[in-house]
Amino acid sequence: MNPEDRKTKQLPKVGIYGLTSCAGDQLTIVNCEDQILDIFGSAEISSFLMAKSDNTEGEIDVAIVEGSVSSKGDLEMLEDIRKRSKVLIALGNCACNGGPQAACVAAEDHKERMKQVYGDVKWSLPDPIDAKPLSAYVKVDMQITGCPIDKWEFLRALGRLVKGDGPIPISYPVCVECKYNENECLLFKNEMCLGPITLAGCNSVCINHNIPCFGCRGAVIEANVAGEAEMLVNMKHPQFPDRKNFDYQDVKNRAMMYGGNTMAELLDKAKVKGAKK
Ligand code: SF4
Ligand code: SF4
Repeated sequence: MNPEDRKTKQLPKVGIYGLTSCAGDQLTIVNCEDQILDIFGSAEISSFLMAKSDNTEGEIDVAIVEGSVSSKGDLEMLEDIRKRSKVLIALGNCACNGGPQAACVAAEDHKERMKQVYGDVKWSLPDPIDAKPLSAYVKVDMQITGCPIDKWEFLRALGRLVKGDGPIPISYPVCVECKYNENECLLFKNEMCLGPITLAGCNSVCINHNIPCFGCRGAVIEANVAGEAEMLVNMKHPQFPDRKNFDYQDVKNRAMMYGGNTMAELLDKAKVKGAKK
């Protein structure tokens, strides 16, 4: 948009915020070097701590929030953003699914887990709580997931939003992109790939490099999590004598690494044949 048009047009107000996370999704936006001027030209970016200093805290049209709710301070900030915004978008795996900090691979609560790792130390962090995705506390209108987000998926979504349209959601798993890319399925190589239950949108980037999917984009809609686990713990087959079965707990830990409590609950409810729980 040229500067004259910009003066006369009412631009949508957008705020970009970060809760507990590595800030990789905000960094992905800052790294859109060829598009950053268009981003700032198509919307009034009222708040984006990582990219500008003159931030304001008033009413906004679109709030884009990265990170999980992992402290009482996060929760207060999220509730304030929700009150001030018409549309709230969860950005990245931590915001959509809780992220690795919500993996909860140990049964104890977060205080016990911190004690196991750091011992008896005094915490400077204010009021930590068990990490959860934004949707555990407030209404989330849209999700743009990934760890970190895919730059082009974000730009496509933002482009539609500033025109008043919603992003077009993806509803198929990573396996579909993997097949488009003509990869040999890693399951045949006895690798623990979570592609069948993971939301696509990354162009199967890991499998394209011979690395199994760890599920960093979270579960695809109607993911058959129990079916995937059952397949992985029963990999041995007369036609494939070299295959080994995976341990159920290893499968569960990998599914929870990015899928957090959602994956754990789906697996706990399922009767996985051959699983030693
Ligand atoms: S390698 Fe993984 S993502 Fe690709 S088809 Fe096999 S299971 Fe699906
Ligand atoms: S292939 Fe899986 S782990 Fe890799 S980026 Fe895509 S969703 Fe994430």
